[in-house]
Amino acid sequence: MIKIEHLVKTYGNFTAVDDISFEVGAGEIVGFLGPNGAGKSTTMNMLTGYLSSTAGSIEIDGIDILAKPLEAKKRIGYLPEQPPLYFDMTVKEYLDFAYDLKGCRLDRKKHIDEICEVVKIKDVYHKLIGHLSKGYKQRVGIAQVLIGNPKVIIFDEPTIGLDPKQIIEIRNLIRNLGRDHTVILSTHILQEVQAVCDRIIIINKGQIVADEKTENITRAVETSRRFSAKICGPQREVLAMLREKPGIVYAEPLAERDGDAFTYMIESDVGIDIRKTLFYTLAERGWPLIGLESLGMSLEDIFITIVDAQGQKKNDKAKNSRVKRGADAERDVAARIMEKTAQSQKSAAKSIFDRRDD
Ligand code: ADP
Ligand code: MG
Repeated sequence: MIKIEHLVKTYGNFTAVDDISFEVGAGEIVGFLGPNGAGKSTTMNMLTGYLSSTAGSIEIDGIDILAKPLEAKKRIGYLPEQPPLYFDMTVKEYLDFAYDLKGCRLDRKKHIDEICEVVKIKDVYHKLIGHLSKGYKQRVGIAQVLIGNPKVIIFDEPTIGLDPKQIIEIRNLIRNLGRDHTVILSTHILQEVQAVCDRIIIINKGQIVADEKTENITRAVETSRRFSAKICGPQREVLAMLREKPGIVYAEPLAERDGDAFTYMIESDVGIDIRKTLFYTLAERGWPLIGLESLGMSLEDIFITIVDAQGQKKNDKAKNSRVKRGADAERDVAARIMEKTAQSQKSAAKSIFDRRDD
């Protein structure tokens, strides 16, 4: 449904989008994830014909966006980072305006009614857009996107500035739209794409660094085997016990003290959940466990890991994302990410320990 090949955008000497290629099939919900400044909005703006590309090609539903921009744009609904709302129009006026602008031919009243039902804005239909809450404004933006029933829907940071309840509502709405549309959700929030998308494309510094099923990224982030444990008791004895305990492959004290409690970084063996047995062992010894926290991974850690792995694959660059999506690569990602964070945590913990022992 969407096919991007060797897309480039430069601003003067600066390359904002650096030779990216990917495809999105009909009915897919794909997350376009990357830190601020990665080139997400630039890519979305080119994809929707808002911005011209420096090089490369874009096809929407088999139509080249440069050759037939109007034809291609008819198939796209776009919610840019700054939704194009007119605050002095009522919702009704605005949706009528969007309907006319898009040259929509569907039954006007029925179509707009249905959309208002889907995005839940019937109760504010006659209100001025400027008077609506941020959450409602966003829904009106989404309503505009749906006019003309486009096959492809693109959202750029759709939940920015919303409160937690509104965020959940908008995410649910996007997920529901994904049932019968092709959707690209561009965001810098990992949880957002995890919650909504089947597949995640990660972009960093204008380049695609990963193209994976969501479950592979999620597994990498969530199956953490590392914990920080806060335990009351003599530090050396507790540490010795932790290091001898079956199922624990690594334990180091962290430079944190809270009364008679010390904090330790613990890593368990693959496939073992040591939390319960750790609790019982500590209880037996009379060393209360007063805190146990899973050490997750930040988005930055994930980028670094993937970028590193990418460096080794530079020679495969011509084949790009197709290669990485092979079964082996999918299995590897989680392992690579875990390994990398464990290493960096170990060295951090070790240097603290070294200093304390001197
Ligand atoms: P994202 O949406 O991922 O946060 P953008 O696509 O907005 O990133 O921007 C990518 C990079 O391109 C940033 O470094 C940004 O400063 C730069 N950039 C964006 N638009 C322009 C412009 N019109 N002129 C010069 N640089 C720009
Ligand atoms: Mg952006």
